[in-house]
Amino acid sequence: MEEIGELLMMAVWYFGLGLIYGSLAVMAILLVSEVLGGIQRWRNKLAGERLLDSVADVPYHPLPPDNDAAAAAGEGSPPSCVICIEEYERGERCFVMPGCAHMFHRECMRKWLRQGNPTCPICRATLLVAPALAEERVSTAEDMV
Ligand SMILES: [Zn+2]
Ligand SMILES: [Zn+2]
Repeated sequence: MEEIGELLMMAVWYFGLGLIYGSLAVMAILLVSEVLGGIQRWRNKLAGERLLDSVADVPYHPLPPDNDAAAAAGEGSPPSCVICIEEYERGERCFVMPGCAHMFHRECMRKWLRQGNPTCPICRATLLVAPALAEERVSTAEDMV
């Protein structure tokens, strides 16, 4: 009888330990993914700031009237900023995307990039590729093969 009691105690003990370690492991995984996400957002922000610094301001000029046809055909950017939905004023400091040539207010673009969005608000083209991160992915993929 004594042995069975001891076995039962051990079973309960290991069950409890399992629960504790299991929940600790889940918490650790959540923590790590949270930290990694934070690092990724931080890198996006840094890359966004660098992009903003590397691209010169463009003062806005409305298209001449004889270019209305081209504007109506959807060429170029809309005459308002999609981030704040306000129309550009002549000579306003604007930011033109290096890749897709979409235009936004410079300050709106700064806010947008600070939120950790490394994509164009209009066409969702990815602005920034973090080269270090891309290399890491490639090397881990090779290790697994
Ligand atoms: Zn704007
Ligand atoms: Zn775009």
